[in-house]
Parts: sequence; structure tokens; C-alpha cells
Amino acid sequence: MNPPRSLPGPGEACTTDTRAVLPAVDRLLHAAELMALAGEVGIAHVKRATRDELAAQRARVGEGSPAADTATLIANITARVRVMVAPHLREVINLTGTVIHTNLGRALMSEEAVAAVAAAMRGYSTLEYDLARGERGERDALIEALLCDLTGAEAATVVNNNAAAVVISLAALAARRQVLISRGELIEIGGSFRMPDIMKTAGCKLVEVGTTNRTHAKDFTAALSAKSALIVKAHCSNYAVSGFTAAVDDTVLAGIAHAHGIAYMVDLGAGALIDLSQFGLPREPMPQEALAAGADIVTFSGDKLLGGPQAGIIVGSKAAIGRISTHPLKRALRCSKITLAALEATLRIYASAHRLPERLPTLALLARKADDIRAGCERLLPHLARFAGEAFAARIEPCASQIGSGSLPVERLPSFAIVLAPVSAKGAGRALAQFSHRLRSLEKPVIGRIHEQAVWLDLRCLRDDAELVAALGSSGATRVIGEQP
Ligand SMILES: *Cc1c(COP(=O)(O)O)cnc(C)c1O
Repeated sequence: MNPPRSLPGPGEACTTDTRAVLPAVDRLLHAAELMALAGEVGIAHVKRATRDELAAQRARVGEGSPAADTATLIANITARVRVMVAPHLREVINLTGTVIHTNLGRALMSEEAVAAVAAAMRGYSTLEYDLARGERGERDALIEALLCDLTGAEAATVVNNNAAAVVISLAALAARRQVLISRGELIEIGGSFRMPDIMKTAGCKLVEVGTTNRTHAKDFTAALSAKSALIVKAHCSNYAVSGFTAAVDDTVLAGIAHAHGIAYMVDLGAGALIDLSQFGLPREPMPQEALAAGADIVTFSGDKLLGGPQAGIIVGSKAAIGRISTHPLKRALRCSKITLAALEATLRIYASAHRLPERLPTLALLARKADDIRAGCERLLPHLARFAGEAFAARIEPCASQIGSGSLPVERLPSFAIVLAPVSAKGAGRALAQFSHRLRSLEKPVIGRIHEQAVWLDLRCLRDDAELVAALGSSGATRVIGEQP
């Protein structure tokens, strides 16, 4: 390599021809600091960061700003490289007040699940191996017995997520045939899960029954034909139909389906395995109840109220599960050993029925009492007031947390938030945007929400004061380049 030519020093670069004032990419790459950085992280990152930085500088010079000196360029390039090579899936502190937050990774898992996953990742395992017989085993056998014990089902299987569970169940039980569902349940869950589209994808013909607010048993009976294969109920996860309403309950729908010789399926969405009212939470429908009422198939998510990994759990009759497990889509949608390890550990906690809120962090956060959260707000208020500075006034306010992920949509959990409001009304919008950007730019980003001209930090999901204090202390350690509001 050529020895680096001399680079412009501080204050040397001040003409307006950008080519004259900014060094070429190759010349910069020869700087000792950047060569050392390339040795550590690879030349590709350093090249890309150098090009990006020079492009940004050319734009600045074009706008009439003075060009940066070489030391500044190298510092900026190094900062860009550090952002590039930092993991993109980063741990954040969720102060949004939504416990099962889909954008922030939904359920937090138990230590048992974490340990099971680590072991499954490090070593070989009995994923599809039957130790007793010394031959190939069934992947689902790991969790099927547990799921059957917990829900009373005859059989069970798991796929990648609940959307996949619904698709494969429809495809296996009703492809090219009619599926009856109430007009009040043609749900959209967000992220492109829309019941009519899912039916189409599975190759089923959707038959809408009843009206948006009221559907009766006789509507289903009238809609049945020789082409019908399945009656479906979808749980209203993220909305509520209230007022003058009527829906047909599971026992009646299962009876209608069975009298016609077809199956009845319930998509529960969140699906709690235990009665949550024992922890002071609103009650959510349970798979065991739908099965007891006669459902042939019940589907629910692994990472919503269950507090486990992303998975779609399918429980039901031997006949229906048999058709699903042998459907060609099953191979495409099957779960990894990582998922199965986490799910088995999570289900074992339910099976033990022992100290559940202590062992299931998601449940612990949901069950936290407002007084406990308020005490945390009082302890942390001075830290946040100091972090926000004099331009913000800090106070504590009661607020309502959400369960999230469409679980129990209308129910709110009483909670408390630290509220930071700009002292001056002038430029308040910009001040709020900048302040929440500052929180997001911390080494461990803090995510709150803006509401009524203030940043609200609901402390329900903060498990440890020290975690937030440490995060606030690391101010500016990692810049989020290119995201200035
Ligand atoms: C959440 C939900 C789904 C989708 O589940 P994923 O686990 O996100 O795939 C489907 N149906 C209902 C009723 C839901 O609430």
C-alpha cells in the first residue's frame, strides 16, 4: 500500500470547491485510525461509512457550510461504523405502557425458557429422536402431551405463529370448500392478518353469516350447505362489539357444526391457559373452555398471554389434528428447536401451577399493582427531571397500561407514569420530538410515548430501577445517525 499522503489539518480546508476541500475516499481510507478500524470490523463497513460521510459533507459544503477537517471526518466515520456494526436487534426499555408490545418483541420469557433455549442452541438434542426406542421420533411429541394435559385436548401441534396456525387449519380442514364465519368476526389483526385474505390464502370459500353486530344460531343453520366444511369463530382480539349485539356461543356453534357432520374451529388469538382473574386481571377466554364446549380445533399464540416464544399452538380432536399434522404446509411452517425448547419450558411452568407470576415475567408485569408502579415513579422522578433538564417539568400522573397484542382490547390496567412536559409552549412539539429522540438514542434506548403535549413514561414494564438509571447515565453513547427529528 502507498504511504498516506498528507491530509488537510484542522482549519486548512475552507474553500468552496467540495473536491478541493474534501479528501478522496481512498486517501481517507489510508489514515491510520481507519486502517486499524478496518482491521477490526472489515474494510467494507469502513468504505461504506467513508462514502456516506463524504456525501453528507459534500451536501453541507454545497449549502455553504465550511468543510470539516480530517480529524472530524475520521471521528464521524468511526461513529458511523460503530452504529453499522452494533447489533440491529437491540435491547430497549419499554416504557410505552403496553406489556405485550408486538413492535418491541411481545412476551418476555421465563428464566427456565432462556436456559432451555441456550442448551438447545449449544448442543445436540432429542428434537426428533426417541431415546427409549433409539430411533427417529416426532418433533411435536415434545410438547403434545403437555398441551393435552393443560387443555384437555386429545391432540396438539405447533407451527410458526398463530397466523400460520389459522392458515394450516383452514387449508387442512376446508380447502376448496365453504367456511362459515359471523360478519362481526371478519377481523384484521394488523400486520396484514385479515380473515377474508387468510381464508383465500388457505383456498377456502368464505361465507359471511349474520350481521356486523348480531348473529344468531338460525343464521348459521340457514347458511349451511353440502359445500360447507367448517364453522369458524375468531376472537375479537383488538376491538369490541358492544351495544345491541348478539353472538352465538361455542356450545351452540359446535352443536350446529356436528349435527351437519362438519368441524368447529375457534381462533382465540391470545388464549390464556389460566384464569387471569386470580391475579386481578380481566378474564380472557381459555382454550380448555372452547374445547369443553365442543370445538374440534382451537388456535392461539405462544407469545401473547401465554408468555412464551412466537408460535401458533393448535389443540383439538385427534382426527382434526391428524389432518393438520400431515398437511404439506406443516413442513413449511414447523417450529425450530429454539422455539420448541422455550415453549416446553414455558408449558412446564403452567403444568407445575407453582409460583406462576414469579416465574412468568409477562404475567408479573401484567399483574403489577398501581401502588408499586407509583412508588417506582417517585423514586425515579428526580433522575428523569435531571436528565430532561430545565426546559422540562416532570410530574407523576395516573395512567392506563394496555395488555397489548390485541389481548383484552377494551380493558386497561391502572398504572402510573412520569410525565415530562416542555416548560415553554413555544416550540413544544419540536422539543418533545427531540427529547424522545434523545431517549431513543441512549445506549439502551428508552421508548415512551407522546400524549397531550408531554412525554409519558409508564413504568409498568420497568423491572429494575437501576436499569433505567444506568440507561440515563449513558447519554449519547450511541448515536442514531440520520434520524434527527
Ligand atoms: C394475534 C392474533 C392472530 C395472529 O397471531 P400471531 O401470533 O401474531 O400470528 C390471529 N388471530 C387472532 C384472533 C389474534 O388475536
